[in-house]
Amino acid sequence: MSWKFVIGGISHETNCFSPIKTELSHFKERGYAEGEEMIRHFKGTRTPIGGFLDFCEETNSEVFPTIFASATPSGIVEQDAYFTLKNGLLDGIKDAISTYGEIDGVLLALHGAMVVEGIPDAEGDILGSVRDLVGPNVPVAATLDFHANLTDDMVRLADGLFGYNTYPHVDGYERALEAGEFVARILKKEIKPVSYVIRPPIAPAVVPARTGWGPIKELMSLAFEYEEEPGVINVSVYGGFVYSDIHDAGLAFLATTDGDLKRAQEIAAGLARKAWEIRHQFVANMKPPAEAVRYAMEAPRGPVVLADVADNTGGGASGDGTEVLRELIRQDAQDVVVITIPDREAVEEASRVGIGGKFDAMIGGKFDDNHGAPVRVVGTVKLLSDGEFVHRGPMSTGVKSSMGRTAVIRCGGVDIIVNERRFQPVDPEVARSVGIEPRHKKIVVLKSAVHYRASYEPIAEEIIEVDGPGLASPNLDRFTFKHIRRPVFPLDRDFTW
Ligand SMILES: [Zn+2]
Repeated sequence: MSWKFVIGGISHETNCFSPIKTELSHFKERGYAEGEEMIRHFKGTRTPIGGFLDFCEETNSEVFPTIFASATPSGIVEQDAYFTLKNGLLDGIKDAISTYGEIDGVLLALHGAMVVEGIPDAEGDILGSVRDLVGPNVPVAATLDFHANLTDDMVRLADGLFGYNTYPHVDGYERALEAGEFVARILKKEIKPVSYVIRPPIAPAVVPARTGWGPIKELMSLAFEYEEEPGVINVSVYGGFVYSDIHDAGLAFLATTDGDLKRAQEIAAGLARKAWEIRHQFVANMKPPAEAVRYAMEAPRGPVVLADVADNTGGGASGDGTEVLRELIRQDAQDVVVITIPDREAVEEASRVGIGGKFDAMIGGKFDDNHGAPVRVVGTVKLLSDGEFVHRGPMSTGVKSSMGRTAVIRCGGVDIIVNERRFQPVDPEVARSVGIEPRHKKIVVLKSAVHYRASYEPIAEEIIEVDGPGLASPNLDRFTFKHIRRPVFPLDRDFTW
């Protein structure tokens, strides 16, 4: 059997509290590929697009690549940027239809928490436009991030949605294979899928909602039990992304069965009930910056990872937060690496004085007022780099990345990696690419909420989550929510459901 599949995707996790509007250039510089370039960039990678490509190869199917665009999480996406990308995807599908006459399916890599000016449910809008184009009979399946805010439109407009089962996200490739096999079974007329979604009134912060621990771990194992039942095709647990602040943000449970809507409803309801029972476990256990630094300095052995969870660019924070760095300098901490602080001016100043030159400038705290004030750093430029590296995983294994021009500045016992682009430094290769081995440092500061755990848990002696300021803070009382439905836990505590 040989089929013709269109593949593509647009991916963004939108933090509506961020003042950094997301423009087309943010997609173009982080991850943008068109047509055959998509195949060159993703073939052999453990990503959703890499999974779609392998699925098509294994089934001897023709692949028609459209576009793939992904930007570092940030504020609301500008309409112009969104329509340019969406039209690129739709034009690709139209091209495929005119080339082949007809297509057998559409496989998309989406996120699920993208918010566009005037369009709170961007993925629902994308799926609606794709559906209008291909009609009701061509299967459309998509992978979604674990942090998708699942809406009724998304569920209605796609034949199947395959959310990551992991946070840190290490199964994008596997979910893409699953989406491909699902479409193949529809084409072979083996299944007639029906789906049902329930969103309990719970919208946790991302930090306590990781899959290897606590309440989500419990919900995931229940979902896997349901998946063992005959006739059950897929059961997904979504953590949601509360910082999108849309009506439907938060936890969701999606069950897809072979034609049995009643069973799908029961399964989604079973998971929602369980989540409600254990909702009080969705809390983060954090230390304030000064205490966290003191604790790490006194620890008998390193590396102690200080996770600056609130300044996670992966959650839409600026990444240039300074409160942990300020404490490290104030307490004269030794044998430390800070990964990373995006600050173009600091990189330029480091390049100007050159390797070995004296650096004396303000670092960080420049994108907005939510992540601490700039901090004065006096030190020496140790290294300058183009900032390119290859992910060794387990996340994004094989993907080439660039953090933009990069410098290492040594200030007392603290090595600070400053770079040009906001990105989440989840892979130890970031530090290795500038000659620093995180295993050999006493203290490692990371701007990441959870993703760093996939590669740092095996090498860290201890991990401390820091309660600093920032737009990805697990402390939801720091934010003024406008659009999310109320009441919703934990923003509201005293209500029944
Ligand atoms: Zn995510």
